Amino acid sequence: MKIICIGRNYIDHAKELNNPVPSQPLVFMKPATAQLKNGSDFYYPEFSENIHYELELILKISKNGKYIEKKFAENYYDEIGLGIDFTARDLQDKCKEKGHPWEIAKAFDHSAVVGDFINKEDIQQDHIDFRLVKNDDVVQQGNSKDLIFPFDTLIEHVSKFFTLNKGDLIFTGTPAGVGPIKIGDRLQGFLGEHSLLTCNIK
Ligand code: ZN
Repeated sequence: MKIICIGRNYIDHAKELNNPVPSQPLVFMKPATAQLKNGSDFYYPEFSENIHYELELILKISKNGKYIEKKFAENYYDEIGLGIDFTARDLQDKCKEKGHPWEIAKAFDHSAVVGDFINKEDIQQDHIDFRLVKNDDVVQQGNSKDLIFPFDTLIEHVSKFFTLNKGDLIFTGTPAGVGPIKIGDRLQGFLGEHSLLTCNIK
């Protein structure tokens, strides 16, 4: 199982980190060891002093495929859920500065919280409201209508390079509002009115 992630897929988020809006999806990966099950505690790692949350819609791949055309993309995922792409922003800034790869900042153990999923037939996919509540505050709010590259485009693009296997996850990018976590925080992700994800920082 692999986790494929998309960076800078919402204009407001690209702007908040002073990044250019990409003309093609920006792709990176996390290994299976990055996965943290819903409801588990996240232990703040010693190698970073600035871990950020990024709440994202995720697609669960339901069928193996390669070179999937946009018009068939729908057939390759059946569920949509929420995940958190934990990012060591201090390490990422150093990597970016030097033009180095991002893995140590993005793909470390438990950097991908995977929440529960909803059958895609049960939601209006081009208008999915989602939000992250940290302690008692709504810190991120997004809607799939604002994706720069929508789900079908992502699947077409990603599957040119990587065979998609059943069970793979695609993290589709974070909206604006990313920020730091600290020990003692409680994160909760909502898709519409469904509470799909919780994670406590220890
Ligand atoms: Zn992300």
